Amino acid sequence: MKMDIKKLLTQQRAFFNTDQTKNVEFRLRQLKRVKTILKENEHLLYEAIYKDFKKSQFETYTTELSLLYHEINQFIKNIKKWSKRKKVATGMANFPAKSYIIPEPLGVTLVIGAWNYPYQLSLLPAITSIAAGNTVILKPSELPVNTSKVMAKLINDNFPENYFHVVEGGVEETNLLLENRFDKIFFTGSIPVGKIIYKAAAKHLTPVTLELGGKSPTFVLADADLKITAKRIVWSKFINAGQTCISPDYVLVDKHIEQPFLEALKMEIEASFENKQAIGENYLQIINTKNHERLSKLIESGQVYFGGNINQEERFISPTILHNVSFADEVMKDEIFGPILPIISFDNLENTIKEVKARPKPLSCYVYSKNKKAIQYLLKTLSFGGGAVNDSVMHLTNSKLPFGGVGYSGIGSYHGKAGFDSFTHYKSILDKPFWFEPNIKYPPYSNWKKAIIKWMIE
Ligand code: NAD
Repeated sequence: MKMDIKKLLTQQRAFFNTDQTKNVEFRLRQLKRVKTILKENEHLLYEAIYKDFKKSQFETYTTELSLLYHEINQFIKNIKKWSKRKKVATGMANFPAKSYIIPEPLGVTLVIGAWNYPYQLSLLPAITSIAAGNTVILKPSELPVNTSKVMAKLINDNFPENYFHVVEGGVEETNLLLENRFDKIFFTGSIPVGKIIYKAAAKHLTPVTLELGGKSPTFVLADADLKITAKRIVWSKFINAGQTCISPDYVLVDKHIEQPFLEALKMEIEASFENKQAIGENYLQIINTKNHERLSKLIESGQVYFGGNINQEERFISPTILHNVSFADEVMKDEIFGPILPIISFDNLENTIKEVKARPKPLSCYVYSKNKKAIQYLLKTLSFGGGAVNDSVMHLTNSKLPFGGVGYSGIGSYHGKAGFDSFTHYKSILDKPFWFEPNIKYPPYSNWKKAIIKWMIE
């Protein structure tokens, strides 16, 4: 295995050095090929993910495949333009030179995926790297065994390993990969593992994008439309059974509307999930027993307002609302990453903001209100990766919005042009002809030379 990975890297580096991936037509052909392979094998992708955690075709299409197709289309449409050299102004000091920036791929890249959206979180960064002209080694999460296998099969059967290759495995395989020098590492996962990746990358000064997690707050102010707010929060919290990095982790609701808001959440859950005792067409399993146990304990230690049905064998947890929660409670310690929504009511927004600010900067934040002043204040005073006003999660679907964290929730961003940039080096060139060479900067130095330089600069 050890030797294989070394060999794989040597082969990818040799291929990158042929400059073939720098050709935009080559990249366009690869992107179209990825799209065709995914489309032709959708049935295999659906089958694998259902085996892993009973994800339905509808959710697999809407939260994974559609995003991949959309992003591939964006790249196909734009990479010619994005890969062109860009002229910029030069300034008097370098007259008569011209200046331009050449976008160039970084080289051999490593993409490490998380399990919760196994296709989206592995293939989207990989496709982005290809669009930018790199070679890719993809290491999907080992937890959803079947999706990892199907990605390995589809990619490794259809692409040469010196260009795009999937290495399956867990900690051991990731560590073997990390012993080597990459030109870029793109990691999606937890904060503790993010730190391991950052440390390994530092050995080789490899640039990283770290897409991490955190506890994303959702503010519901007194003037919010409760029916629509509840509908959007319930959908965004319980999609993927709450196993979403940007799902509302907890809600901060104005005390005056707490009761009607809780009622609205309950009604919305009842309307959305017809079968609260088991995995239905509209609902997923928890990924594994370890996470099921962790989440079950959070329910046991909290105050259940609605839901709280658990079936260990089925790895099922029904959409659950906890109320009378405070910042000191167990459920407020770590990212929940499951279908449990704690509700904290407040009567003083300022104090609540202070509590949020005292915690690590989250990946997302959401505000539900009609009060423009209050919304703008919250957006200004809180630091977080990205978010939405009167919605949750959906900001991720706009590829014009760079997606990523800040502080403990991550480093760097992707989606659309931001993704292309994260896998690209912008090489700056000053380009000068021979026909003009004033002596001004050369010795012997003199006061009049300095005066001219001062006049040009100041
Ligand atoms: P994880 O950190 O456990 O695993 C992520 C990847 O790292 C996997 O491929 C895994 O094999 C590898 N890995 C695990 N332990 C390792 C170790 N000790 N050394 C080297 N590699 C190791 O994360 P996860 O459980 O797959 O995902 C859940 C976390 O990811 C949550 O915190 C969630 O918020 C975050 N997440 C973030 C985003 C985002 O876009 N920002 C998206 C999804 C998930």
